[in-house]
Amino acid sequence: MNAETSILIIYTGGTIGMMADPQTGALVPFDFQQINDQIPELKNMNFHLGFHCFDPILDSSNMKPEVWIELASIIEKNYEQYDGFVVLHGSDTMAYTASAVSFLLENLNKPVIFTGSQLPLGVLRTDGRENFITAIEIAAAMEEHTPVVPEVCIYFENSLMRANRTVKYNAEHFNAFVSANLPALANVGIYIRYNKNIILKPNFKKLKAHHQLDTNVAVLKLFPGISKAFVEAFLSIEGLKAVVLETFGSGNAPSETWFIEALQKAIDKGLIVLNVTQCLAGSVDQGKYETSLKLREMGVISGKDLTTEAALTKLMYLLASGLEKQKVIELLSVSLRGEMTV
Ligand code: ASP
Repeated sequence: MNAETSILIIYTGGTIGMMADPQTGALVPFDFQQINDQIPELKNMNFHLGFHCFDPILDSSNMKPEVWIELASIIEKNYEQYDGFVVLHGSDTMAYTASAVSFLLENLNKPVIFTGSQLPLGVLRTDGRENFITAIEIAAAMEEHTPVVPEVCIYFENSLMRANRTVKYNAEHFNAFVSANLPALANVGIYIRYNKNIILKPNFKKLKAHHQLDTNVAVLKLFPGISKAFVEAFLSIEGLKAVVLETFGSGNAPSETWFIEALQKAIDKGLIVLNVTQCLAGSVDQGKYETSLKLREMGVISGKDLTTEAALTKLMYLLASGLEKQKVIELLSVSLRGEMTV
């Protein structure tokens, strides 16, 4: 690390940038220009930090695909000027945004590290200070003039995870994210220990940022007792092009005739159905049980060990790519950004 290393901090919103209003005690965003007052340690970091603050800043529950595209465009515009990027984002939908950005940025060869916090920076016990400072260090880490982590990641509470493998699973713990199907890219304690055998290798090609996502995608979470009326109404949503089907266990669904017929009808009409498991860890294995064999036979695509977040955003990305449907289906079984184990 040296003073020539430059990192762009992009603040989108979320708890990390909040402080308690002295009058009401309610959490309100602080003026990001005053970040140095909140984290005086930033001045001691021996590299150049640039800042970009979203206007308006967003609680991440208000995130949208348009904003994901805006974020990818900001990184694209500043790509040559900076060595790495740290995105401060609310933790609630961070895994969706970070997954989407991973697909939007093709040939990424620099670190894009998302982080946030469970407690605001302005609170004494905040987890934000450590998350923020370590995210900057990771974004700036180089070896032989090459970034150590040239991919989109989430850094939270001691663990650096590939963004499109990550799920927010705890609403209270500082350790709020899990990457259940891929070990951490780095474990952070006294040292930052990178697991270099898992981190994607740079391809040194020119960055290609994509600026479109197709939102005609929806998630259908199965549950025991799901009704025919609900499934049929869902599958007949106008304009719907693809469904992430959240199934049980290793990809199983009810084998009742009405369910199979409703799904078959939708697939025959052109709907893409991508099967992911409701479990936090493990993979879809269509054909292991009779209850998933039927899905495979009717043309449901196995999402293997994709998270719902990655499945949804991958579909939005591929459907907007202008590729033939057959090619989209083919690419759903291929790992584009390290999002699935193949
Ligand atoms: N509601 C907040 C958000 O996601 C929570 C957080 O930042 O952790 O924007």
